[in-house]
Amino acid sequence: MTNITKTCLSDPFEPQKHEVINVTKTYLPDRTKLDMYIDKIYSTAWVTNNGQLVKELTARLEEYLGVKNLLLVTNGTLALQIAYKVLGVTEQAITTPFSFVATTSSLVWEGIEPIFVDIDPETFCIDPSKIEEAITPKTTAIVPVHVFGNACDVEKIEKIAQKYGLKTIYDGAHAFGVQYNSKSLLSYGDATILSFHATKLFHTIEGGAIIFRNKEALERAKLMINFGINGPDSVIELGINAKMNEFQAAMGLCILDEIDTILEQRAKIWSYYENALKDYVQIQKRDFQCTNNYSYFPVLLENEKRLMEVKATMNATGINPRRYFYPSLDTLGYLQPYDPQTVSRDIASRVMCLPIYPELPLKKIKEIIKILNELSKN
Ligand SMILES: *Cc1c(COP(=O)(O)O)cnc(C)c1O
Repeated sequence: MTNITKTCLSDPFEPQKHEVINVTKTYLPDRTKLDMYIDKIYSTAWVTNNGQLVKELTARLEEYLGVKNLLLVTNGTLALQIAYKVLGVTEQAITTPFSFVATTSSLVWEGIEPIFVDIDPETFCIDPSKIEEAITPKTTAIVPVHVFGNACDVEKIEKIAQKYGLKTIYDGAHAFGVQYNSKSLLSYGDATILSFHATKLFHTIEGGAIIFRNKEALERAKLMINFGINGPDSVIELGINAKMNEFQAAMGLCILDEIDTILEQRAKIWSYYENALKDYVQIQKRDFQCTNNYSYFPVLLENEKRLMEVKATMNATGINPRRYFYPSLDTLGYLQPYDPQTVSRDIASRVMCLPIYPELPLKKIKEIIKILNELSKN
């Protein structure tokens, strides 16, 4: 991790040897269309507080994703925090150590103790067979992650939650548009959150959403993201500021128009990688009931040493795959001491996401494959 700045940032005074290829490149939509939305914002000077574009994006996302009770918010991390608050998650929540840090830090920030349950070594999602033994009288919720858009075992998890009276909040930050058993994966649980950060498949620069099972929870969350204000002179409960603004919504509306093309291009690259790599690097085992949104292409190398060799070789040609997720969250300094989550630590030590985004040149894809091909063999 020490040479991240060296490899990602090029010195402007040095002639560039290679075109830099990062793990993702923020998708920017058609400029004329974006201008049209910005003109709308200028004509009303309404820039935030549940404006017209936020309303429009909410409706269009509910339709596109096939969900109800969707609330747009500032970012995915606040989406998690609001969901915990609205659903009364306190004391302890069961979660996975193999995720982006926000899944855990959002719990800690809300004063909730994360209890890790290790992952399945093939799907990279929380291992449902280990959840029950981690439940204590203080457990109030399960917070699983659909890792790289691969569905968790939602059926088993829902059953456990029901048996013990726990809430389920899915971190679906990677699961935009994913279908499970012919319905939206995002409709499972008491709530599922999405992140619309610039690095995600669909984005609003920064942004996020919560999809609630119940309308009552949605209504409560609407108040909470606006300071608990329910009228011109009235504050009825504790709230925070987590509103999405009109400029964010404008970006989202433009990208949503282009999402099918984005998905097609990602699918092409994903399949190209899969065909070329499946025989000599391990790839994630995906749930067969779950569609793919092609948001990530993680590969699992033999060991960490091999991973670092592959990464260094790619970095030297300007290609920057990313160790993701790394480190395993049970190693976070602010949680120590914590029992090692061995599967998660092992996977985190040797997993890496390859560049995947529309317009990634085929030449580069072939270079990546060649390096992996040469270095992953003994
Ligand atoms: C990106 C991400 C988040 C956080 O979302 P932000 O919008 O960046 O706050 C949470 N969980 C996972 C799994 C993510 O990948």
